[in-house]
Amino acid sequence: SLPELLFGALSPEQAAAPALIDGPSGRTLRYGELAALIDKAAAGLAARGINKGDVVGIFSPNTPYYAVVFHGVLRAGAVATTVNALYTAEELAHQLIDAGAKLLFTVSAFAERALAAAEAAGIAEVIFLDGLDGHPALAELLATEAAPPVIEFDPAEDLAVLPYSSGTTGRAKGVMLTHRNLVANIEQFKQVVHINSADRVLAVLPFFHIYGMQVTMNHALAVGATVVTMPKFDLAEFLRIIAEHRTSYVYIAPPVAVALAKHPMVDDYDLSAMKMLFSGAAPLDAELANAVAKRLGVAVRQGYGMTEMSPVSHAIPSDRPDINVGTVGLILPNMVCKLVDPATDEESLPGQPGELWCQGPNVMKGYLNNEEATKSTLDDEGFLHTGDVAVIDEHGVVSIVDRVKELIKYKGYQVPPAELEALLLTHPQIADAAVIGVRDADGEEVPKAFVVRQAGAEELDETAVMTFVAGQVAPHKKVRVVEFLTAIPKSASGKILRKDLRARERG
Ligand code: ATP
Ligand code: MG
Repeated sequence: SLPELLFGALSPEQAAAPALIDGPSGRTLRYGELAALIDKAAAGLAARGINKGDVVGIFSPNTPYYAVVFHGVLRAGAVATTVNALYTAEELAHQLIDAGAKLLFTVSAFAERALAAAEAAGIAEVIFLDGLDGHPALAELLATEAAPPVIEFDPAEDLAVLPYSSGTTGRAKGVMLTHRNLVANIEQFKQVVHINSADRVLAVLPFFHIYGMQVTMNHALAVGATVVTMPKFDLAEFLRIIAEHRTSYVYIAPPVAVALAKHPMVDDYDLSAMKMLFSGAAPLDAELANAVAKRLGVAVRQGYGMTEMSPVSHAIPSDRPDINVGTVGLILPNMVCKLVDPATDEESLPGQPGELWCQGPNVMKGYLNNEEATKSTLDDEGFLHTGDVAVIDEHGVVSIVDRVKELIKYKGYQVPPAELEALLLTHPQIADAAVIGVRDADGEEVPKAFVVRQAGAEELDETAVMTFVAGQVAPHKKVRVVEFLTAIPKSASGKILRKDLRARERG
């Protein structure tokens, strides 16, 4: 189980090492304190009637106490359903009801949404991590003298977490992940990304999302590193915390790489402690990544995954600077993947793109309350149909093309919007960009670019954007419509919300 992996037996030296640091305040939790608080949280939950298999919601920004609550829930044998901090009360209520949560942890800043949603979901107990008058506080839970309950885990069957997918393509789906799923992916990731107890890892990606939860928090704790938490992304604060806490590993999503490549503010901070920048969750352009690597003097790596794979299936190993950073690198140990033509279910010919199907100990048990989605995603052989198109080169290096459903079909050709977005970002006057398919006057699907101008680049017009793209792609990939926006809609996990752009098109 995950609690055993992380907090088995600590030597005095390990117990004294810093586990988590609150970035803004600098407050530190040592491994010994963390393990003791997790035991207390588990005991406190048991005393409040939380039993094995019960679901507990966590709706909070990243702080060291997020880890206490998260691991306390698992230690109690319960299942954590982690909630997007940007959710409205309605979205929160939907997840709590869908997951069947019995109790909710939150913070006072989220009180209004949390209390409204808890009432709608029939949850009597809302516990505030930082305390709120008239409500139970985490401190009361931790004040217990009781020992934590002794839980027998069946790691392959017992659920550990119920995170929800990002909702990029539709309503977020509850993903059932077992203890074995989580432990397997931590162990797999350890084989390729080598951090140790001397490293400080910046946790700016939210813990509620599987990437922040597993890659930033759990993997780092499993190797005895120090996790520096940030409650939300803000470029100046992000740079200040890297400089002040001298973080060596920084996990990000591509929008942060865009800022690091392009924003003048970056030069004002001492980022010399940073060794590695690791990007995932959405496509990272090689040219942009190389610009960041050069500007900051750091190594940049990319990985790929999804909530359903706990989450990582592919990554560029930390000791493989030779692999193109625009790819997602190599398959993780203990996984089997293949590329398949979704129309025929036949394996793609060597070098040809296909839908990526993956099998391994990190692949989910299924979607919660959604047998139909489970059946169409997980086949009889245990392959997860990722919905993403990929290509594999002769060395086994994988590149993600785009989601199957996002490919623009122009006159029988398939145009991946992600490729055009990456190209647009290389333009010095473009700060951000997104591409979707729209219908032209003849009813043909054509690529349309939404573009955010760089500050001071007001003269950049539609024609300039179209000419720039046309000069570098095959004719069928030309951008045929351009619209300027002030910002591209993105999810909390850093993905372009093309569904919002499509809704905008429909008016
Ligand atoms: P939903 O399933 O609810 O529509 P989502 O798929 O965005 O949302 P996540 O599980 O957070 O939810 O994201 C997984 C997806 O993110 C992958 O299927 C893939 O499309 C995309 N992704 C992750 N990493 C990369 C990457 N390195 N390059 C390109 N795409 C990536
Ligand atoms: Mg998905």
